[in-house]
Amino acid sequence: MTKAEEHLLDWLRDAHAMEQQAEQMLEAQAKRLEHYPKLKRRIEQHITETQGQRRLLEACLNRLGARPSTLKDMTGKLMAFGQAMGGMMMTDEVVKGAMSGYVFENLEIASYTILIEAAKQVGDTQTQEVCEQILPEEIAMADWLREHLPELTQAFLSRSATPDTEARK
Ligand code: MG
Ligand code: FE
Repeated sequence: MTKAEEHLLDWLRDAHAMEQQAEQMLEAQAKRLEHYPKLKRRIEQHITETQGQRRLLEACLNRLGARPSTLKDMTGKLMAFGQAMGGMMMTDEVVKGAMSGYVFENLEIASYTILIEAAKQVGDTQTQEVCEQILPEEIAMADWLREHLPELTQAFLSRSATPDTEARK
Protein backbone atom coordinates (compact mmCIF):
# COMPACT_ATOMS: atom_id res chain seq x y z
CA MET A 1 0.00 0.00 0.00
CA THR A 2 1.32 3.47 -0.86
CA LYS A 3 1.37 6.27 1.73
CA ALA A 4 -1.51 7.96 -0.06
CA GLU A 5 -3.57 4.75 0.03
CA GLU A 6 -2.88 4.38 3.75
CA HIS A 7 -4.07 7.93 4.43
CA LEU A 8 -7.15 7.45 2.28
CA LEU A 9 -8.06 4.33 4.26
CA ASP A 10 -7.48 6.13 7.58
CA TRP A 11 -9.66 9.03 6.50
CA LEU A 12 -12.38 6.66 5.35
CA ARG A 13 -12.37 5.05 8.80
CA ASP A 14 -12.53 8.51 10.40
CA ALA A 15 -15.49 9.40 8.17
CA HIS A 16 -17.25 6.19 9.16
CA ALA A 17 -16.79 7.01 12.87
CA MET A 18 -17.95 10.56 12.17
CA GLU A 19 -21.18 9.30 10.57
CA GLN A 20 -21.86 7.01 13.52
CA GLN A 21 -21.42 9.99 15.81
CA ALA A 22 -23.65 12.09 13.55
CA GLU A 23 -26.43 9.50 13.68
CA GLN A 24 -26.36 9.38 17.47
CA MET A 25 -26.32 13.15 17.88
CA LEU A 26 -29.12 13.68 15.38
CA GLU A 27 -31.22 10.95 16.96
CA ALA A 28 -30.74 12.41 20.43
CA GLN A 29 -31.79 15.83 19.13
CA ALA A 30 -34.80 14.64 17.14
CA LYS A 31 -36.05 12.54 20.04
CA ARG A 32 -36.04 15.49 22.43
CA LEU A 33 -37.48 18.18 20.13
CA GLU A 34 -41.15 18.97 20.81
CA HIS A 35 -41.92 22.56 19.87
CA TYR A 36 -39.82 22.98 16.72
CA PRO A 37 -41.44 20.59 14.22
CA LYS A 38 -39.71 21.99 11.12
CA LEU A 39 -36.25 21.47 12.64
CA LYS A 40 -37.26 18.03 13.87
CA ARG A 41 -38.42 16.99 10.38
CA ARG A 42 -35.23 18.24 8.72
CA ILE A 43 -33.12 16.38 11.30
CA GLU A 44 -35.13 13.20 10.71
CA GLN A 45 -34.55 13.52 6.97
CA HIS A 46 -30.83 13.88 7.62
CA ILE A 47 -30.82 10.81 9.90
CA THR A 48 -32.00 8.74 6.92
CA GLU A 49 -29.31 10.33 4.72
CA THR A 50 -26.68 9.74 7.41
CA GLN A 51 -27.57 6.02 7.66
CA GLY A 52 -27.17 5.74 3.89
CA GLN A 53 -23.81 7.51 4.06
CA ARG A 54 -22.59 5.12 6.74
CA ARG A 55 -23.56 2.13 4.60
CA LEU A 56 -21.79 3.60 1.54
CA LEU A 57 -18.62 4.09 3.60
CA GLU A 58 -18.87 0.52 4.95
CA ALA A 59 -19.03 -0.75 1.36
CA CYS A 60 -15.87 1.24 0.52
CA LEU A 61 -14.06 -0.10 3.58
CA ASN A 62 -15.12 -3.67 2.80
CA ARG A 63 -13.98 -3.35 -0.81
CA LEU A 64 -10.57 -2.12 0.43
CA GLY A 65 -10.42 -5.07 2.83
CA ALA A 66 -10.59 -2.94 5.97
CA ARG A 67 -12.75 -3.09 9.06
CA PRO A 68 -14.16 0.13 10.49
CA SER A 69 -12.04 1.22 13.45
CA THR A 70 -13.82 0.07 16.59
CA LEU A 71 -11.72 2.24 18.88
CA LYS A 72 -12.66 5.38 16.97
CA ASP A 73 -16.27 4.24 16.80
CA MET A 74 -16.25 3.93 20.58
CA THR A 75 -14.79 7.41 21.00
CA GLY A 76 -17.42 8.77 18.67
CA LYS A 77 -20.20 7.14 20.64
CA LEU A 78 -18.89 8.49 23.92
CA MET A 79 -18.51 11.98 22.48
CA ALA A 80 -22.01 11.90 21.05
CA PHE A 81 -23.36 10.78 24.38
CA GLY A 82 -21.49 13.56 26.17
CA GLN A 83 -22.77 16.16 23.75
CA ALA A 84 -26.35 14.94 24.03
CA MET A 85 -26.12 15.01 27.82
CA GLY A 86 -24.49 18.45 27.73
CA GLY A 87 -27.32 19.75 25.56
CA MET A 88 -29.94 18.53 27.99
CA MET A 89 -28.56 20.68 30.80
CA MET A 90 -28.97 23.88 28.82
CA THR A 91 -32.01 26.12 28.91
CA ASP A 92 -31.36 26.98 25.24
CA GLU A 93 -30.63 23.44 24.03
CA VAL A 94 -32.52 23.88 20.73
CA VAL A 95 -30.33 26.86 19.80
CA LYS A 96 -27.10 25.19 20.97
CA GLY A 97 -28.13 22.01 19.15
CA ALA A 98 -28.68 23.83 15.85
CA MET A 99 -25.37 25.63 16.34
CA SER A 100 -23.46 22.37 17.02
CA GLY A 101 -25.26 20.79 14.09
CA TYR A 102 -24.01 23.53 11.79
CA VAL A 103 -20.45 23.10 13.07
CA PHE A 104 -20.67 19.32 12.64
CA GLU A 105 -22.00 19.54 9.07
CA ASN A 106 -19.07 21.77 8.18
CA LEU A 107 -16.66 19.21 9.63
CA GLU A 108 -18.32 16.65 7.37
CA ILE A 109 -18.02 18.97 4.35
CA ALA A 110 -14.28 19.35 5.00
CA SER A 111 -13.85 15.58 5.49
CA TYR A 112 -15.54 14.63 2.20
CA THR A 113 -13.70 17.37 0.28
CA ILE A 114 -10.41 15.88 1.54
CA LEU A 115 -11.54 12.30 0.80
CA ILE A 116 -12.54 13.21 -2.77
CA GLU A 117 -9.10 14.65 -3.46
CA ALA A 118 -7.27 11.72 -1.83
CA ALA A 119 -9.38 9.20 -3.77
CA LYS A 120 -8.57 11.09 -7.00
CA GLN A 121 -4.86 10.98 -6.16
CA VAL A 122 -4.79 7.19 -5.72
CA GLY A 123 -7.21 6.58 -8.60
CA ASP A 124 -9.93 5.02 -6.42
CA THR A 125 -12.87 6.07 -8.58
CA GLN A 126 -15.48 4.22 -6.54
CA THR A 127 -14.53 5.95 -3.28
CA GLN A 128 -14.38 9.27 -5.12
CA GLU A 129 -17.90 8.79 -6.50
CA VAL A 130 -19.29 7.75 -3.11
CA CYS A 131 -17.86 10.87 -1.47
CA GLU A 132 -19.09 13.07 -4.32
CA GLN A 133 -22.54 11.62 -3.74
CA ILE A 134 -22.43 12.28 0.03
CA LEU A 135 -20.94 15.80 -0.03
CA PRO A 136 -24.04 17.61 -1.45
CA GLU A 137 -26.20 16.13 1.36
CA GLU A 138 -23.88 17.65 3.96
CA ILE A 139 -23.80 21.00 2.14
CA ALA A 140 -27.62 21.01 1.93
CA MET A 141 -27.94 20.30 5.66
CA ALA A 142 -25.39 22.99 6.59
CA ASP A 143 -27.16 25.50 4.33
CA TRP A 144 -30.57 24.62 5.76
CA LEU A 145 -29.37 25.10 9.33
CA ARG A 146 -27.65 28.41 8.58
CA GLU A 147 -30.70 29.71 6.72
CA HIS A 148 -33.07 28.71 9.52
CA LEU A 149 -31.02 29.99 12.47
CA PRO A 150 -32.75 33.43 12.50
CA GLU A 151 -36.25 31.87 12.39
CA LEU A 152 -35.30 29.38 15.09
CA THR A 153 -33.85 32.11 17.30
CA GLN A 154 -37.06 34.14 16.92
CA ALA A 155 -39.25 31.16 17.80
CA PHE A 156 -37.06 30.32 20.80
CA LEU A 157 -37.00 33.88 22.14
CA SER A 158 -40.72 34.26 21.65
CA ARG A 159 -41.45 31.03 23.57
CA SER A 160 -38.94 32.05 26.27
CA ALA A 161 -40.80 35.31 26.83
CA THR A 162 -44.17 33.56 27.16
CA PRO A 163 -45.11 32.44 30.69
CA ASP A 164 -45.69 28.69 31.27
CA THR A 165 -44.27 27.85 27.83
CA GLU A 166 -41.35 25.52 27.34
CA ALA A 167 -38.76 26.98 24.96
CA ARG A 168 -35.67 24.77 25.33
CA LYS A 169 -36.77 21.86 23.11
MG1 MG B 1 -22.89 12.78 7.15
FE1 FE C 1 -24.33 15.38 7.86
